Amino acid sequence: MSDTAHADIGSNSGAGVKQFEAILDSSRILTSEEDRAFYSQDIFNQGETVQAVLQPTSVEELAASVKAATSAGMAVFPRGGGMSYTDGYLPTVGNAVTIDTQKMNRIVEINTDDMYVTVEPGVTWEELDLALKEKGVRTPFWGPFSGKFATVGGSVTQNSVSYGSGDAGPAGDSLTGFEIVTANGDVIKTGSGGGEHGKPFYRHFGPDLTGLFSGDAGALGIKATISLRLMKRKPEVMCFSYNFDTFDAMGQAASAVAREGIVTESFGIDPELNKTNLGRTENAGMGQALKNVLAIGAAGRNPISGLAQMIKVAMAGTSVFATDKYTYHFIIEGHDAASASAQAKLIRKHCDPLGMEVPNTVPATFRANPWQPMNNIILHPTGMRWVPCHGVVSFSRLQSFHDDLTALYASYESEMQEKKVIKAAMFTTAMNGFLYEPVFYWEDNRELFHNRVIDAEFLPVFQTFETNMAGRELVHKMKAEIIDLFHKHGAIHFQVGKVYPLLRNRNPAAVSLLRAVKAHVDPDNLINPGALGL
Ligand SMILES: Cc1cc2nc3c(=O)[nH]c(=O)nc-3n(C[C@H](O)[C@H](O)[C@H](O)COP(=O)(O)OP(=O)(O)OC[C@H]3O[C@@H](n4cnc5c(N)ncnc54)[C@H](O)[C@@H]3O)c2cc1C
Repeated sequence: MSDTAHADIGSNSGAGVKQFEAILDSSRILTSEEDRAFYSQDIFNQGETVQAVLQPTSVEELAASVKAATSAGMAVFPRGGGMSYTDGYLPTVGNAVTIDTQKMNRIVEINTDDMYVTVEPGVTWEELDLALKEKGVRTPFWGPFSGKFATVGGSVTQNSVSYGSGDAGPAGDSLTGFEIVTANGDVIKTGSGGGEHGKPFYRHFGPDLTGLFSGDAGALGIKATISLRLMKRKPEVMCFSYNFDTFDAMGQAASAVAREGIVTESFGIDPELNKTNLGRTENAGMGQALKNVLAIGAAGRNPISGLAQMIKVAMAGTSVFATDKYTYHFIIEGHDAASASAQAKLIRKHCDPLGMEVPNTVPATFRANPWQPMNNIILHPTGMRWVPCHGVVSFSRLQSFHDDLTALYASYESEMQEKKVIKAAMFTTAMNGFLYEPVFYWEDNRELFHNRVIDAEFLPVFQTFETNMAGRELVHKMKAEIIDLFHKHGAIHFQVGKVYPLLRNRNPAAVSLLRAVKAHVDPDNLINPGALGL
């Protein structure tokens, strides 16, 4: 990361940068052209270029930085690991700073008597997992697949799902409280920890102010600390994989299992993605492949179960990926072998009539080595660009949404071919919602974002492409139409950012309440303007 002196920015922004020098060490005020460009883009899109990137290391520095920016009329865009792709942290105005929370990365307290953990927002899920593992506990939701980089602050701000969310729901459902810095530098405290003598062991005491800020896309303030509930880790972990001939069969089976409320996490992959890169170890190089197999061994509850699982995975090799079927993977946890087996029976009861059980290589790999590098994921193996979108539909509307989406894709088939765009899909369930994630790949040039996030030694593996504006625009257009389809089917979205139209057709009284809250915490609309559509 460059920390070059503040030379690249225009003279009319100098005053803004100078005032931050009274608050932050100059090495934590990034102003080089490259840094400002990097922080102003995400995997998919480019925002306005900010004047500077500020890297506070404490609540006090964060509050003072926000106050200094807003007092000077500058907008503030919070960013965690930068792994979202819905414009969430992208600047909508140029007279602005990015607040990079990654240096606020202390685990403040792990309390296994009262079962909570308090962290600063820049702690990654990998860091939290490793610290909690030593104590035999975890948070109910324990991270997205991007958790090697994604931060706790970013994930609770957009209600991420994946690890743990099968039965524990999205990130916000694991919270017990926040400290939030508002536009004028005030700090709001929520949950039981917010009162005099309070500890952050419980979320509810009157109206749920914690919930107000979870999933807020950073529009209502900047999380300075986050407290989450802890639970003991369950020692029995079992993984299952099924192939299904049709989407309908996969959807029915996954929904039936989700209704039982037993899976810790689950995910499905469509035939196109099965053919490409998800979890394929050979694309990540032999080093990563070996790491994955060894991690599977280490994750076994005893040396024999670990070894048995390693042998199973090694024998299955990568052949399990070479399928033209839909695959769905389930992970369950039990307090003991008997409770895990009882849950396993339920999975088989629902899946055996609809699909075929296959080796559990994919979930075993993910579960044993949950914090995979981004190298193999944020580009197609050929080097094509990647962007997903998603909606969460109720189980009863899943098939009709899928049918409409299939018709939409059919109408674009020749244009996609002509403009070098392909599509795929991933799925998961989070409590009583089915998350459908359409994914696009298209030939296009890589951005600074990819070049910084993908390990340098890995980049030459990928082919490079010329700029393909026609392909990129087609992806934008199809994404917008898919969002309309989700809307038609009553879907909700987690990673709202500035892309999903939260306010569309919402109950007017509810919208007016949300606007009033925004006006209270951020009267001049300087905290992430545009987020949540505000
Ligand atoms: C390969 C890959 C896999 C992924 N897998 C998953 C997955 O399994 N599940 C899932 O849900 N998502 C997934 N994502 C999307 C994304 O990584 C996650 O949603 C993740 O939680 C984002 O965290 P982050 O720290 O990177 O947040 P950022 O992208 O930095 O920010 C997200 C939003 O939060 C705001 N924000 C960040 N920090 C703060 C703060 N302290 N206070 C207030 N607002 C803040 C930002 O302004 C932005 O609106 C994936 C992305 C990639 C690239």
